[in-house]
Amino acid sequence: MEKIVSLAKRKGFVFPGSEIYGGFAGVYDFGPRGVELLNNLKQAWWKANVSDKENYFGIDSAMFKNPKVWEASGHVGGFSDPLAECKECNTRIRVDKELEKIGVTADEKMSESELAALFDANRDKIACPKCGKMNFGPVKMFNLLVTSNLGDFTSEGTSPAYLPGEACQGIYLNFKNIVDSMQPKFPFGVAQIGKAFRNEISPRNFLFRTREFEQADTQYFIRPNENKEAYEAIKQDRWNWYLSLGIDESKLRWKQHDRLAFYAKDAWDIEYEFPTGFDEIEGIHDRGDYDLSQHMKFSGTDLNYSDQENGQKFVPWILETSMGMGRLFLAVLANAYTEEEMDGETRIVLKLAPHLAPVKACVSPLLKNRPELQEKAREVYAILKKKFGNVMYDDNGNVGKRYRRQDEIGTPWCIVVDFDTIGSGENINPDFKDMVTVRDRDTGNQERVAISELANYIEARM
Ligand code: ATP
Repeated sequence: MEKIVSLAKRKGFVFPGSEIYGGFAGVYDFGPRGVELLNNLKQAWWKANVSDKENYFGIDSAMFKNPKVWEASGHVGGFSDPLAECKECNTRIRVDKELEKIGVTADEKMSESELAALFDANRDKIACPKCGKMNFGPVKMFNLLVTSNLGDFTSEGTSPAYLPGEACQGIYLNFKNIVDSMQPKFPFGVAQIGKAFRNEISPRNFLFRTREFEQADTQYFIRPNENKEAYEAIKQDRWNWYLSLGIDESKLRWKQHDRLAFYAKDAWDIEYEFPTGFDEIEGIHDRGDYDLSQHMKFSGTDLNYSDQENGQKFVPWILETSMGMGRLFLAVLANAYTEEEMDGETRIVLKLAPHLAPVKACVSPLLKNRPELQEKAREVYAILKKKFGNVMYDDNGNVGKRYRRQDEIGTPWCIVVDFDTIGSGENINPDFKDMVTVRDRDTGNQERVAISELANYIEARM
């Protein structure tokens, strides 16, 4: 993990939030390379969940919502984690997570006093992760919702305007709007990528648990009791999507929830083997009619769907997928990070799928101090830049060093213009005129490609 965090900072992927002020716990900024990778991941997700699907609709809902939304969703009353504070160093721990580490399961429905009793019974086995002492204060429930003071000065400001604790609520709120405006055939899905904020007690493991993050969610609205087959299909679809990103299948696994929320029919997580071990990257939930029923109750708006086909009226059931973008980003980085021997040296290389790579290609002249090579290399660069956007020009140092720099950021192709390309110099091969060398990141193999074919060559491999 340390190596990944260090590379991410050194190479402009991810920076600690507010770093010049000493940082801000649980918050990270994406740098120039990171934002490209993030956008490519979002694009890949959007393509798979909206563009490529016939019956899915994308939305982008506002972050601020009527405060009642978070009452209906259960976040105001129940979105809390149990914490205990170390009396020695003031570190706060998630009681349920620490219990889990020693093989003790805390039931989701447990009250504060029940949890406290369970924790008390196991105090002698739980050490503070920071100072190692076993001297914790009492267990307290801690609400994770982040509040704002929006509207405090108006009559609307009776309860705080929360920041979203999860992104999916915007989809439920717009269910009726989508039915009315898009007239979708049932069943149909709605997809959204949105920010979420949680007052996490112990943000940790880099992008794994942060206080501000993004979720990519789909909600599939189905007729009552038509959940089983569709749920299995969605699970398979999501699994395959990770493989399409080049994620090593042996690092993925399914985990079924052993404790279900009272309304849930089934719940599975896709876990990835992060450098810190297997942990959740996405939840896939069979939620019954809970969400729309709750919003019907709290808003007083009828969210029944009237089926034109058979005249029936029903509250749709929902199959949900919810993935954390930061966790995906971390998984993709960890999956790509490789240290290996090449040409007698150890190199660090990010073996990112080409469609995800922040820089698609880097163009160089063989030698920096030869204007004729520079000129041709600039020409090649301009062609590729226009076509792909994220293309670099690099004439610093020798070619070997340029390759290493590009390897570290995962650039799939390095292109070099040499004397053969321009057809001038000693011992040149006339067959290679107007051709460049293209070096493959993963194998280090080089081949000659005509400049006129270069864009097609890259596109075909992306
Ligand atoms: P956990 O048990 O790890 O706290 P969760 O079960 O509360 O996660 P959900 O509420 O189901 O998570 O959210 C769906 C997805 O959002 C998770 O699978 C995860 O990828 C992401 N996510 C949740 N909390 C965080 C966080 N604090 N930082 C980054 N991503 C998160």
